[in-house]
Amino acid sequence: MARKPIIVGNWKMNKTIAETKEFVAAVDPKVTDKADWGIATPYLDLQAAKAAKNLIVAAEDMHFKDSGAYTGAVSAAMLKEINVEWTILGHSERRQYFGETDETVNLKMIQAINNGINPIVCVGESLEQYEANETKDVVKTQVVAAYKDIAKEDVEKTVIAYEPIWAIGTGKTATNEIAQDVCGYIRTVVADLYDQETADKVRIQYGGSVKPAGLAALLEQPDIDGALVGGASLQVESYIAMIEAL
Ligand code: PGA
Repeated sequence: MARKPIIVGNWKMNKTIAETKEFVAAVDPKVTDKADWGIATPYLDLQAAKAAKNLIVAAEDMHFKDSGAYTGAVSAAMLKEINVEWTILGHSERRQYFGETDETVNLKMIQAINNGINPIVCVGESLEQYEANETKDVVKTQVVAAYKDIAKEDVEKTVIAYEPIWAIGTGKTATNEIAQDVCGYIRTVVADLYDQETADKVRIQYGGSVKPAGLAALLEQPDIDGALVGGASLQVESYIAMIEAL
């Protein structure tokens, strides 16, 4: 089953509006149709990023309520108003620093789907869990929780990003074999939750110190359909190097 690769840069708390404009002007014209290419940016940068004609523009998080007394939060309707139709959910940094839980990730998944926003839901184990051989248990728990009450026909609108926490921003990447093993396992979890046809449609990314040089080989893995890229997505040159690597 052919799944189109999806590569999304996760800018985290980087880049001003001016820097976003510069980046988009340089990168957007280079985008090819060999993959879906995107950037997830801070909220303030989203409108500037939407100047892109080819890049998918994603938020890095979104609240699960429609509106109300949630200081600092941004709703689905606010994203939709500026035509942002993608968001990352449950990134490990949100889980670690902002109290994100499997339950809030699930509520956000439901809110995103109900509002026509495609979620990229992140799962992944800590170094301690990796060393204790708990990777598959951890990602299974996270995937099962994230997809609670998500209907089968909506699963293909979602993307799952497997990001081992020990590989994020550390320069240590999981080997392609490890990444494939876990991404393949995640697909079996989705098949158990729904069915094989649904599992065959969902795109699964690897994330964690992905660099342009390793991208093509990563995407050759049968169950890896893309990448969520932090550090290497920030520089125009390295983003373009990723585009050219495919
Ligand atoms: P990294 O970040 O590529 O800098 O490791 C990946 C991520 O956190 O999504």
